[in-house]
Formats: sequence, structure tokens, C-alpha cells
Amino acid sequence: MSKINIPILMYHSIERMPKDTVMRSLHVPPKRFEFQMKLLKFLGYKGLSINKLLPYLNGEKHGKVVGITFDDGYENNLINAAPILKKYNFSATCYIVSSRIGSSNIWDNDRGITQRPLMSKNQIAQWINLGMDIGAHTRTHCDLTKLQKNEIIEEIICCKSELEDYFEIFVTDFCYPYGYFNKQVSSLVEDAGFKTATTMIRGKMNKEHNLFMMPRIPINHHTLPHLFLAKILTKYEEKKS
Ligand SMILES: [Zn+2]
Repeated sequence: MSKINIPILMYHSIERMPKDTVMRSLHVPPKRFEFQMKLLKFLGYKGLSINKLLPYLNGEKHGKVVGITFDDGYENNLINAAPILKKYNFSATCYIVSSRIGSSNIWDNDRGITQRPLMSKNQIAQWINLGMDIGAHTRTHCDLTKLQKNEIIEEIICCKSELEDYFEIFVTDFCYPYGYFNKQVSSLVEDAGFKTATTMIRGKMNKEHNLFMMPRIPINHHTLPHLFLAKILTKYEEKKS
């Protein structure tokens, strides 16, 4: 059996934000993002959405690939990240909170985290038309481990069906809000017809990992080039988990 060792990058917002921004780490400046994509290309990697990465995760396809994901569905993903992804012929998955489309990250309000606009329906359609993919990130960005079974099912299934209805596509990839999940949550995601689910567990994807508990590599404001390279090329992330 051949070994796989695939990094899946986790981004949120791609935007230059002022110094006093709360949780500024969630925002990667577009220039830094562009340099990271350029580095991947230079190293011979292809950046892929989770949907396009799946054959590599299953061991059906082989090659130098990196998964690229964006959580929450920020407007700046379309405006700032998509043109850069297109330039390098990469794709990415953006995880959408279905009842917050066209709104903002209001779930972060209590913690004083800066509000940024989320993509509208029209903008998500543009994202898809550019060859990018979307995944589900629940209806309301809730902590699924704190809900009753019927509420968990509603958050998961309604998000999937709403996105499928709006955009006339199959939505097969899921992402746990805040990375919170347990065995019940992950099996309900599987039962709902998803093929994958990403977490905030750190590390690269290998054969031992479950497709419904996929680890990722966080990339944030402070990820300078040397650290970015260490995260991709070394065991740096494994030591962090
Ligand atoms: Zn999120």
C-alpha cells in the first residue's frame, strides 16, 4: 500500500486588516497568500479543493497535491483569493454557513471578533463558476457537540439541502464549526451523505486518518514563508498536535 502524506491548508479571511483588529491572525494579507500559492507552484504542488483532492486521499491518484480550504465563506475569498488561485490554476473549497449567506460572521460577535461580510448567493455562484467548490459549515455555525441529536441532524442536513437547492450542485464536503465534533456528530455527518469532513486537528492527512476527521494545517497572519515551508515540507505540524 502506498503512503500518502497530504497537507490540507486551512484559511479564513484573505484581507489586509489594521493592527488593532481582534483576532487579526484569522486574516491573511492577499500578498502573503499570493506568495504562499507561488511557493506551492514553485515546489511542484497542485492546490486542490477537497472534492478534487478526494481521489488522492483514497489512493486512486498520486501526485504532489495540497488541499486548500477556506472556512465561513468570506466575501474576500472571492475578491482577493480567487484571482490568485486562478492565476496558478489551483482550486479550493469554501465552507458556507447556509443561513448566514450575504450576512457576516455574527457567531463571533460575543467574542468581539471583527465582523467581515460573507459572500452573497450571487457571489457564491461566481465562486463556483470560477471552478471552485463549496462545502457545508452548518446552518448557523453552532457547536454541534452541544446540541441534541435532532438539532445536529437539522444543522447538517438543512445546510446541505439549502446549498444544493440554491446552487444546483451536490455538496459532499463538510467542516465542523470551531473544529468541534465527537463520534455521534461525525457519524451523523457520514449518514447525511457527505464524503469528507475537516477538523482543526493539526497534521497532514495519511492512510490512518478517517475521511470524517481530517486534520488540517492552519495558515494565519503570522505564517511567514519559512514557517509556511516548514508546515508543508516537515513534521512541524505533527509535533504541534
Ligand atoms: Zn467557521
